[in-house]
Amino acid sequence: MPDAPLKINFFRGLNRFGLSGLSHPCPMPHARCPMPHAPCPMPHAHLKFPMQTKSENSVNPVSQSNFLAQNPHLASVASGGFDASHPPEQKLIDTCVHCGFCLATCPSYRVLGTEMDSPRGRIYLMDAINKGEAELKAASDHFDTCLGCLACVSTCPSGVQYDKLIAATRPQVERNTERSLPQRLIRLLIFNLFPYPNRLRPLLFPLFFYQKSGLQNLVRSSGLLKKIFPRLGAMESILPQITLDSLRQEMPEVIPAQGEKRYRVGIILGCVQRLFFSPVNQATVRVLTANGCEVVIPKGQGCCGALPAHQGQEEQAQAIARQMIDSFADTGVDAIIINAAGCGHTLKEYGHILQDDPDYRQKAQEFASKVKDVQEFLATAGLTAELSPLTDPPSDGKSTAESTAESTAELTIAYQDACHLLHGQKISIQPRQLLQQIPGVRLRESVDASLCCGSAGVYNMLQPEVADELGRQKVENLLNTGAELIVSANPGCSLQIKKHLELQGKEVTLMHPMELLDYSIRGEKIK
Ligand code: SF4
Ligand code: SF4
Repeated sequence: MPDAPLKINFFRGLNRFGLSGLSHPCPMPHARCPMPHAPCPMPHAHLKFPMQTKSENSVNPVSQSNFLAQNPHLASVASGGFDASHPPEQKLIDTCVHCGFCLATCPSYRVLGTEMDSPRGRIYLMDAINKGEAELKAASDHFDTCLGCLACVSTCPSGVQYDKLIAATRPQVERNTERSLPQRLIRLLIFNLFPYPNRLRPLLFPLFFYQKSGLQNLVRSSGLLKKIFPRLGAMESILPQITLDSLRQEMPEVIPAQGEKRYRVGIILGCVQRLFFSPVNQATVRVLTANGCEVVIPKGQGCCGALPAHQGQEEQAQAIARQMIDSFADTGVDAIIINAAGCGHTLKEYGHILQDDPDYRQKAQEFASKVKDVQEFLATAGLTAELSPLTDPPSDGKSTAESTAESTAELTIAYQDACHLLHGQKISIQPRQLLQQIPGVRLRESVDASLCCGSAGVYNMLQPEVADELGRQKVENLLNTGAELIVSANPGCSLQIKKHLELQGKEVTLMHPMELLDYSIRGEKIK
C-alpha cells in the first residue's frame, strides 16, 4: 500500500477539524474492529456503517480481537491488574461501542496520534486489565497521557462516563505501579508543596527575589534547567509573576454586602490561587458584595484537593476534603463559591471522594450540593450592580453624544473555556452571558475553543511535551480571533496561556472574568 502514509496524513488532517466522520475508508465494521490500527489514523465513526448497538457489542472486544497480539507488551504479566478497591466498573466500560466519535476531540490523541492515547483506546485497556488480559503496569503510561479534560464525555453519543472510569483508574495506577525516580521526585515535590498554602507562602519571598534579581532571566535564557531537569524546567516556565500584593493578602472573615443583603455565601480561596492570584480573589469578593452578598471566608480552609484527586492520590485528597468540609461547618452559608474551574469540579465531587467514609459521606454530599462556580452563581442570582464600559470612547473629533452612540462595542474579548468548567461542570453559557452584560464588550470565539490548552492541573509539569504542543495551538487560535483581551476562569489555563503568549512574543492582556466585572462595577478602565 504505497499510498498509506498519505491517506493517514489526510485523515489525521480531517480529524483536526472534526470532519473524520464524513468519509471513512476503513473496511472494518465496528463489531469486528480489532483496535488498534497502530496508530489508527481515523476514528471508526463514519456514515457508511450503521452505529453499533449494545447487542452487537456483546462479544468481548479484547479477547475476540487481535488487540493483545498487536500489543504483546501489555499482556506480558497478566496477573498485574487492578486491585479490588473500586476498579473501573465493567458495566461502565461496556457502554462504549467503540464508535470513535471522541477521538477527534481528544487532545492527547491529537498530539500523539496513537489509539491507546485516545479515550477509546484507554477504555479498551481498562477492559483488558479488568479481564486479566493485560498488565496495568505496561499500560499505565497511556493513562498518564490523559489530560482528564473530559472532552470525550461531552462528545460521546453513547453517554460513556469516561470521567468515572479514569477517576477510578488513576488511584489504581498510583497504588499498583512503580514510577521512575525522577517521576517520583517531581510528584513528591508537587504533592507535598502545592496543596498546602502554609508551605507555599514562605517560598514567595525567595521567588520574588529570584524574579526581581534577574536570576530568572539568566536561568531561562541559558535553557540549562530545562535540559537537565525537564519537568522542573516546565514547572519554572509557568511560574507566575510574584508581586508585592502576593506577599500581603489577608482578608477579613466576614465581609458585609453592599446595599440590601440577598445572600450569605462562603468563598474558597484555593491554594495556588490565594498566593499567586490574590487580585482575582479580591475582585471576586468585591463583585459578590457589590451584588448583595455577605461573604464568609473561613480561616481554617486549605486546598480543595483537586491536584491530588486528579492524580489519583486518594488518601491525600480525602484528608484535604475533610478539612475543607470542617472549615465550612456552622457557617450557615447559602452557597459555597469558587472562582477556579478545576477546584470547582473537585469540590462538587466530594460526595464521591468520601463515599467510603461513614462519618463524612453525608456531610460531603451536603457540602458538594452547595458548591457553585462564581459565574454559575451570579448568572442565576442576577447582577444588581451597575456596569460601565471598560474602555474610553475614542476621541475622534465628534461630539460627545455622537462618540458615545458609536463607540459602545469597543473591547473585543476571547473567552477561554476551561475544561473543568465546560466539560466537567457544563458551564459555558453563564460566563459569556455575564461578560456580554458589560457595555461595549464584544465576544469572539476561537477555533477549537473546547480543546484543552494543555495545562490540566499539573499535566504541563508532568507531560511537558504534549502540553507545550497544546499550549502553542491554543494561543495561536486565541490570537487568530483578533481579541484585544483573553479571559480565563482557571489559574492553570491562565499560566499556560501566558507562557505561550510570551513564547510567541505576543503581548495580550489576560484576566479572570471576575476582574473584568470588578473593573466594570468600579468604573475603572482597562489600559
Ligand atoms: S467513548 Fe463514546 S465516543 Fe468514544 S468510542 Fe466509546 S462510545 Fe464512541
Ligand atoms: S479526558 Fe481528555 S485527554 Fe483524556 S481521553 Fe478524554 S478527551 Fe482524551
